[in-house]
Amino acid sequence: MPAKIIDGRAVAASVRENCKHRVRLLEALSRPPGLAVIMVGDDPASAVYVRNKMRACDEVGIRSQRILYPDTVTEAEVIACIDALGRDDSVNGILVQLPLPKHFNLEKILGAINSEKDVDGFHLYNVGGLVIGNTVFPPCTPYGVMRLLEHEGIEVAGRNAVVVGASNIVGKPMALMLMRQEATVSVCHAKTRKLREYTEMADILVVAAGCPNLITGEMIKRGAVVIDVGINRLADGRLVGDCDFESVRSRASYITPVPGGVGPMTVTMLLVNTISSAERARQRLLQQSSEHAHFV
Ligand code: NAP
Repeated sequence: MPAKIIDGRAVAASVRENCKHRVRLLEALSRPPGLAVIMVGDDPASAVYVRNKMRACDEVGIRSQRILYPDTVTEAEVIACIDALGRDDSVNGILVQLPLPKHFNLEKILGAINSEKDVDGFHLYNVGGLVIGNTVFPPCTPYGVMRLLEHEGIEVAGRNAVVVGASNIVGKPMALMLMRQEATVSVCHAKTRKLREYTEMADILVVAAGCPNLITGEMIKRGAVVIDVGINRLADGRLVGDCDFESVRSRASYITPVPGGVGPMTVTMLLVNTISSAERARQRLLQQSSEHAHFV
């Protein structure tokens, strides 16, 4: 029997319904959550991603603002903007759209973001939190993958999970999150020899390499759960993942499609992180005022 197709759009829609409810609650108590997105340059793909994020914010009631800079802007100007947003109580999430132009020091820019508003989860504080299993803001794409696994009732503990791709934004945090849930995790990358020997072992295979058709049906164990994170635009305009969908589907038990699998979850988890940030900010405020009252 071919694999069940995991409908990322449907899962994302149900998570967003819950987001709307949480936003309404915050709005009634104080104000809606706010997200600021900084974009440098005019990369068309980044512009589309930013637009999608702002639309998603609108859909659930998060106030979003986009700050656009030409790629001639200096690092100091961008950091000054990040600092100001860090002090602004109406902003709960700060996101710098990647990639940045080459003359930027990425670590310096990400390190300037107030770690309490780091909704992408790329600040070293949050990365460290993820390593010890205690992150404040889980990075959105792997967070979305974990939510899909949870939604489908797929057991993670004790299973062999293989992550193909070891980037800082997808592969590595994905591996850490799977480890946190007690999977036995292998991480493969471009220099991995005999990739198939790893993929064949996987009960859960997450592929995030950015290579169309990297994974074919004969490379996977029968009944494996396959999560395809890759997004590749082919010469004919089609959008595909990293898996040869039909051959993988014929052997897997679950598979995510591209588009319509992990993609909708990534933006949705950004909304979740922004709302969680606003809820935590409110908690801190309440705690401070009760401490103050106690002191007085
Ligand atoms: P990236 O920074 O380019 O990293 C790619 C990773 O894949 C690297 O670790 C690389 O290995 C590894 N890799 C490349 N070719 C490989 C091969 N033939 N065999 C095994 N490993 C290989 O990309 P990324 O940002 O992680 O994104 C990965 C893919 O996911 C892209 O298609 C991207 O568009 C997509 N993506 C999707 C979403 C979503 O929401 N669905 C979000 C983010 C990214 P080395 O480390 O050795 O170079």
